[in-house]
Amino acid sequence: MRVGVLALQGGFVEHVHALNKLGVSSLEIRSTQDLQTPFDALILPGGESTVMGRLLRELDLYYPLMDLIAQGMPVWGTCAGMILLASELEGEVNTHFALMPITVRRNAFGRQLGSFSSIGMFEGIGEIPMTFIRAPIIHGADKNVHMLAEYDGFSVAARYDTMLVTAFHPELTNDTRVLQYFLGMTGCRH
Ligand code: GLN
Repeated sequence: MRVGVLALQGGFVEHVHALNKLGVSSLEIRSTQDLQTPFDALILPGGESTVMGRLLRELDLYYPLMDLIAQGMPVWGTCAGMILLASELEGEVNTHFALMPITVRRNAFGRQLGSFSSIGMFEGIGEIPMTFIRAPIIHGADKNVHMLAEYDGFSVAARYDTMLVTAFHPELTNDTRVLQYFLGMTGCRH
């Protein structure tokens, strides 16, 4: 079992550390060459989605990764990663992979004062720490999207098929249960 972590920009290292902690191999993906190593699941980290979207295209990673996700490779997008997966971005014309039928509002808690931590319920796990950094929210979704967590009345985690998204950053806490939930989606137990 190996998990690919998109490593172009943003908080990928924290995901790699969390995987290490669980004894799961990771593969940092920076170029098409990296895709020659097989991997079973993909993490799209937090960061700046506009920059990541541009780099994905410039480095020719956009279509290969889109194909893998479309073919059912389990994917977890945290924060900017969730923005990359969303089919609609409120008030914006450009989307990125656009494979998950959700409407996402970027920087939903404000740009400057938008970073904070809380504790919230995650379906199937229980109470977890939630760290938000200029976080998006899920503002609308297809009926087949299953909401997993809310903060202050806003949807902040969801699942659709083989796709998991969280507006917050479990990888910035010591709590690995959301990662374990994701690994569970791949059919492996940790
Ligand atoms: N605000 C960022 C964006 O729109 C996401 C922030 C994050 O990933 N922590 O891309």
